[in-house]
Amino acid sequence: CAEVKIAVFGRAGVGKSALVVRFLTKRFIWEYDPTLESTYRHQANIDDDVVTMEILDTAGPEDLLQREGHMRWGEGFVIVYDITDRGSFDEVMPLKNFLDEIKKPKNVTLILVGNKADLEHARQVSTEEGEKLATELACAFYECSACTGEGSIHEAFHELCREVRRR
Ligand code: GDP
Ligand code: MG
Repeated sequence: CAEVKIAVFGRAGVGKSALVVRFLTKRFIWEYDPTLESTYRHQANIDDDVVTMEILDTAGPEDLLQREGHMRWGEGFVIVYDITDRGSFDEVMPLKNFLDEIKKPKNVTLILVGNKADLEHARQVSTEEGEKLATELACAFYECSACTGEGSIHEAFHELCREVRRR
């Protein structure tokens, strides 16, 4: 049975934990300890295969050495930003560059997720900007909301698994 290691990165507060919990439980948890780093094991049926996903939800006080360790550990990556936080969007490219550095000469398998799509009134990053960045990163892009469940959170994680297994 196949195993896929997935690590979730992004600025503190973008909703990494909420997204992972939404994916795993189909529920939204309003407050999730921002300092808590957790790994979850989840079995999924993907294209008639049973895949065990190990999902690492990285947390705030992560030093460079820890971050590097997480990046070495992961096979597929979710980089999350918050559509209402321009700064979190600006942090995506540096994260990707760091990943490339750690993983070279391998290509990094990742997806880009713009979270908090329910907060349209507070949007700072347009969908087009997200799409454009994803094109630059050569990865799939999903806008979604861990809060309402809109967007394809499920599909995003499954697609990432598929890509990891194709490599
Ligand atoms: P993390 O630090 O990246 O793990 O972020 P959390 O999952 O702890 O979420 C940070 C805050 O954003 C919490 O107050 C969540 O309730 C909130 N949040 C997370 N996802 C969403 C979302 O999709 N929509 C809205 N409105 N709030 C969200
Ligand atoms: Mg968290």
